[in-house]
Amino acid sequence: MTLQLQGLTPEIGSAPIVTRFAPSPTGLLHMGHAYAAWVAREVAQQNTKGRYLLRFEDIDTPRVKAPYYDAIEADLQWLGLSWDDTPLRQSTRSDAYQSALAQLKSIGAIYPCFCTRSEILTETARIPSAPHGPDGPPYPGTCRALSPAQQQEKIDAGIAHSWRLDSALASKLNGPLDFTDLRFGHTRVDPSLLGDVILARKDIGPAYHLAVVVDDAFQSITHVTRGEDLLHSTHVHRLLQAMLKLPAPIYLHHPLVPDENGKRLAKRADSQSIASLRAAGKSPQEIFTLIEHALGKIS
Ligand code: GLU
Repeated sequence: MTLQLQGLTPEIGSAPIVTRFAPSPTGLLHMGHAYAAWVAREVAQQNTKGRYLLRFEDIDTPRVKAPYYDAIEADLQWLGLSWDDTPLRQSTRSDAYQSALAQLKSIGAIYPCFCTRSEILTETARIPSAPHGPDGPPYPGTCRALSPAQQQEKIDAGIAHSWRLDSALASKLNGPLDFTDLRFGHTRVDPSLLGDVILARKDIGPAYHLAVVVDDAFQSITHVTRGEDLLHSTHVHRLLQAMLKLPAPIYLHHPLVPDENGKRLAKRADSQSIASLRAAGKSPQEIFTLIEHALGKIS
């Protein structure tokens, strides 16, 4: 393997490093996933007792397809990126997520949101001066203003609701927070970047931001390595860790592997997948060379 973690080498400490690769079984792995898994394993190997774990983020059940679990494991093994221990499936962890949600409810850090997607779009268009977050305009906060009686009325009327983080209130409760990223440095948490994100969805219940924080602590992850597209999410995650009294891991948000047009690779069952590259006769080494070239174009 010729790929290097250029400039990204974590400090080698005596405490064992634990990392994870956390794919969703909603499609086949592509080169971006292969790189993410490789980084996680490489960081874990910075110390001899390091462990690199596999976690299936499979709570978005409408999108999960059973054959992808085996396909992902087979691709990782073929790439030489076998993991330590039994893979964790988030679909088995709903009790832990529900109890974290109850904890946040008890401190008043979340509120029920009854808005539909189109109501949110209409509201956002009505206030064009509202700040735009990195992922588009954050939720305009409509349901934050509902009184407990108004919330109850809607619940009694059977209107479906999600649960949103009250990001301003939560950050007030916690005071200033920081996180450390091995590439981006020491960063002050700014929860307003993503605003009042959804922690439990109307359809599936507890969602990504909550589940990832609960599981990083459950699996004793010391170093969270993942794509830089999730850097803003880390601001939310750090805040949730503080409220749930969970340890704060070190982060490494690595670059994303671009496609031949310089665009981010999407998860699609097409010629870009590891499985099709393998079927076309490519070796793991050739795939890592392709990744290296693609990354070289952006560095
Ligand atoms: N499931 C996410 C992905 O495939 C990874 C989330 C994370 O590492 O926190 O991009």
